[in-house]
Amino acid sequence: MNKNIRIAVVGAGVSGLYMAKLLLDKGYAVTVFEAKNCIGGRIKTGIMEDQVIDLGGHWIHKTGESSNALLSVIDQSQEPYSIDDDDTYITKMGAGDRKVLGRPFIVEQFIQHVKENDFKADQPLIKTVTEFSRSSVLLDFINSSIADHGSSCHVFSTVKFKELISSESTEHHELENKTMSEFIHEYFSVIPRESILLSTPVLAVEYEHNKVSVITETTELQFNKVIISVPISQLKNNKIRFNPPLPERKLSAFQKIGMGYGVKMFLFFKSSILPEVTFNRKFAPYYIQKKMGAQYVVISLIMGEFMNSYTKNKEEHTKCILRELSEISGKEVDLFLENSIFYDWTEEPFIEGTYSYPVAGIGSAREIASEPVQDTVFFIGEAMNTESAHASINGAMDTSYRLGLQF
Ligand SMILES: Cc1cc2nc3c(=O)[nH]c(=O)nc-3n(C[C@H](O)[C@H](O)[C@H](O)COP(=O)(O)OP(=O)(O)OC[C@H]3O[C@@H](n4cnc5c(N)ncnc54)[C@H](O)[C@@H]3O)c2cc1C
Repeated sequence: MNKNIRIAVVGAGVSGLYMAKLLLDKGYAVTVFEAKNCIGGRIKTGIMEDQVIDLGGHWIHKTGESSNALLSVIDQSQEPYSIDDDDTYITKMGAGDRKVLGRPFIVEQFIQHVKENDFKADQPLIKTVTEFSRSSVLLDFINSSIADHGSSCHVFSTVKFKELISSESTEHHELENKTMSEFIHEYFSVIPRESILLSTPVLAVEYEHNKVSVITETTELQFNKVIISVPISQLKNNKIRFNPPLPERKLSAFQKIGMGYGVKMFLFFKSSILPEVTFNRKFAPYYIQKKMGAQYVVISLIMGEFMNSYTKNKEEHTKCILRELSEISGKEVDLFLENSIFYDWTEEPFIEGTYSYPVAGIGSAREIASEPVQDTVFFIGEAMNTESAHASINGAMDTSYRLGLQF
């Protein structure tokens, strides 16, 4: 019976693909529209000297007891994964209840202060920091922590920062034998290719109860329901025209969800540079070194305030990072550098950023943003996650899993 119900999914990132798979398994007629010429969205394959790397999402995040659609599909596929050797970097940055060796006392004090206070009014984190202390050490540390969320202290929500540092346990795992993009491509290869229309950006959606027209440059196709899984950046900037327009409260909820800009950086060295993973440095929230073939690669995200100045002068800022790595390692790292990749997600068409973060005053914006309209237009994807961690692969897949239960 379900085969007579036609469902359009807009976006073939991990949330759109998982949604399509769940609906196909239940017998619905599904068509996925993807703007780009490949699937995966923010999970993307890169190649460097025959080595496959993840230019986007990579770690498997697990927060407390929250649901985890990603881990359940990995378990189902019997794909081995392990806790990352450099694990708990998020726990270390957020603090959890752990004390971090060498973290300045002022930072410990600030974390305690935030944990102990109730913030009725949700103000930007910078205000909370500077009301507490004018210490530049504290500001640098908090800026660097918030950069990992793609944001800056000037806009990030104090209330959400409190939630973040109070969350009990966060782990991150890694696939042992393949990259995340290889896994995702393999796992979703069961979706019939004819169900995915690549290089087909959706320009407009016209809808009224259980009747939807999905309009692209060349076609107008009819469905009963449409599920939108595009990044929040696209919804904030009205990249898809809805007719009738989406409710005003929904449009204003989109604006309260930020989407960070950022670069994923890979520096390939001929010998080991870092003795261990390091966190909360001035220019990058962390540096993690991995052995890859004969080389050692130092990986990091460049986001937040440093990102803004980075885009203005890439060469100068790359030098800053190399200088910082030289300071940490006590070696002239430039001498060992063989290759580098700076993959700029800000410039990625149809994505234009990294992942979502809470702007001060976010309140229940994610709940409102993810509400369906007329039981006909639905919203999924990492930014729409209201229960497990947003800004993650799992967070994106969980939204599909939960919506799938309603169909
Ligand atoms: C650099 C980086 C590092 C990350 N690291 C991690 C990590 O280690 N672990 C983790 O869990 N998460 C990580 N993330 C986050 C994670 O990758 C994302 O949260 C997740 O992949 C988002 O999936 P999604 O389906 O919600 O959105 P997306 O993957 O963005 O999918 C949306 C799709 O919609 C398409 N689209 C947009 N507009 C249109 C249109 N008009 N018509 C048709 N299609 C359209 C886009 O092309 C895209 O394919 C990282 C992200 C980045 C960028």
